[in-house]
Amino acid sequence: MNYYCKHCGTKATSISSLTSSSCQRHPAGTNKGKHALYEGGEKPKYNCKHCGTSASSLSSLTASLCQRHPLGINKGRHEPAL
Ligand SMILES: [Zn+2]
Ligand SMILES: [Zn+2]
Repeated sequence: MNYYCKHCGTKATSISSLTSSSCQRHPAGTNKGKHALYEGGEKPKYNCKHCGTSASSLSSLTASLCQRHPLGINKGRHEPAL
């Protein structure tokens, strides 16, 4: 089974290896925190929980900014719904 970061879509084969390295799309800033586990599992499609934008991978979903982000328009990236 693979595990994915909910901020950037990085894939790892264990949770411990995923959360041991820094996340380039961490909400606090580039490499300001570790990858965080996406708990929704592998899916054919991912939707942003704020705006509904869909993408075929977590990395492509989180690559762009969210126009309905809770912090303000384009103040953060799309966040995958579980
Ligand atoms: Zn990450
Ligand atoms: Zn969004």
